[in-house]
Order: sequence, then C-alpha cells, then structure tokens
Amino acid sequence: MLSRIRIVLVNTSHPGNIGAVARAMKNMCLSDLVLVDPVRYPEEAEVAFSRASGAQDLLSASRKVATVEEAIEECHLVIGTSARQRTVRWPVVDPHECALLASERAGSGSQVAILFGRERSGLTNEELALCHYLVQIPTNPDYSSLNVAMAVQVIAYELMMVSQQSVSGTEAQRESITAGQFEGFIGHLEETMEVIGFSDDRSSDKLMRRLRRLFLRADMEPDEMNILRGILKASQEHRVRTPRKP
Ligand code: SAH
Repeated sequence: MLSRIRIVLVNTSHPGNIGAVARAMKNMCLSDLVLVDPVRYPEEAEVAFSRASGAQDLLSASRKVATVEEAIEECHLVIGTSARQRTVRWPVVDPHECALLASERAGSGSQVAILFGRERSGLTNEELALCHYLVQIPTNPDYSSLNVAMAVQVIAYELMMVSQQSVSGTEAQRESITAGQFEGFIGHLEETMEVIGFSDDRSSDKLMRRLRRLFLRADMEPDEMNILRGILKASQEHRVRTPRKP
C-alpha cells in the first residue's frame, strides 16, 4: 500500500532538505519520491546525499519532472500540504485523516500523491487547486511553518501507523479518474464555456477554482466524467450550429 503513495516536493530550494525528506520517507517505508523543478539539484547533489544518510538508494531512485501536473498525472487522489488556511477554502484534514484517506485509496490499488511546497512560500493557489484535500499539521498558531522535511516526517509517520492497522475492506471499490483525466475534463469545460459564451461576474480564475473544487469533491468515476464530456461536446456542437444573435 505504501508503495502507491508518492511524495512530491515542489520547487525545493535546499538540496539538504531533499536528502532529509528521503531519509524521513525511508524510515517510514515510503519509497516513491518525485522532485518538481528543484532549485539546486542535482547541481548540489552531494549535499542532498549526505543528508539522506542511509537513504541514498531512495534519492537515486527519485524522479525529476518539470511541472506538478506531470508529477501527479496518473494519480487518483492528490493531497496538498499547507501551513496556513488559504483564501479559497478547500477541504482541510489533519495528518491522521490524511493517512486514512490515502491508505483507503492506495489499499484498493489507486495511486496517491501528497504535495509539499517551497520552503519560503509553500504551494501556490494554482497548485492547491489541483488537490482533492489539504492537510494541515496542527501547530503553534503563532509559528505554524515546519521545515519541509519535518512536515514529510509527520505525514509519513501517520501513513505508516495507519498502514499497519489497515485490514482489507470488503466494500465494493470505486474506480475514480486520474489527475490527468481531470485536467482534460477541466480544459474541455473551460473551452465549452468559451464556445457557448458563458459569462460570470467573478474573474475567470476564481470561477475556475470554484468549479475545480466542485468537481474534485465529486471524485468522479470515468463513466461519470464521460457523460459530462458528452454533454459538453453536444453543447459545443449545438452552439456551432446555432447562429449567434446580433
Ligand atoms: N509559508 C509557507 C511555509 C512553507 S513551509 C506556507 O504557508 O505554506 C514548506 C512546506 O512544508 C509547506 O509547503 C508544506 O508542504 C510543509 N509544511 C510546513 N508546515 C506545515 C504545516 N503546519 N502543515 C502542513 N504542511 C506544512
């Protein structure tokens, strides 16, 4: 189960933190590490490898990609981490709830990703908008930002604890769409709104974030998404056939 839970580090500045994350993961039996556009890695790989201590194997096996979308493309459940509540309210869970959600999905064969942000500024609102849930580690309210590797350690510990307790469920497993399929759907929706001339007072960024939140909450099955995409396609075709009123 833990092999289907991916840790994604976004735009990490300090290679030492990357090494410390590898160590924290290996301690807790996690192994899938993806680095999105790290700032000084692999240029300063020796710093990372020395901090990884006995977890160099995990670091060597890590993958480097250019964007968060690439890192999560085939994932069914995406969870973002954040030290603070953001402007757009997203469903927030604590580390134990995060581990329960992740282990339930990974245990039934789905791929899960947990995103960790930049040391200074965390994850952007656009990156958080790719996530089904946010996880916040409870802290001193006046000093809430943990070092990124320490944050990975807390989440990884909860994942391992839950993985030891979980027994295989008997409920029928649901198949849900991947992050890549979700992006395809959102792109289709945005394009259709344009074609049919839908307008709203909100800025288009804000509106699209609200729509993302709505459809992420629905956790669609592939068939359900295909029905909606069929409706979008028919709406576009209808619009093209119907001349615009002057
Ligand atoms: N000012 C930034 C802090 C970045 S700390 C922010 O508000 O997000 C670097 C990363 O460590 C964060 O992006 C997050 O992935 C993780 N992190 C730090 N403190 C955390 C906390 N209390 N809960 C969850 N994740 C945390």
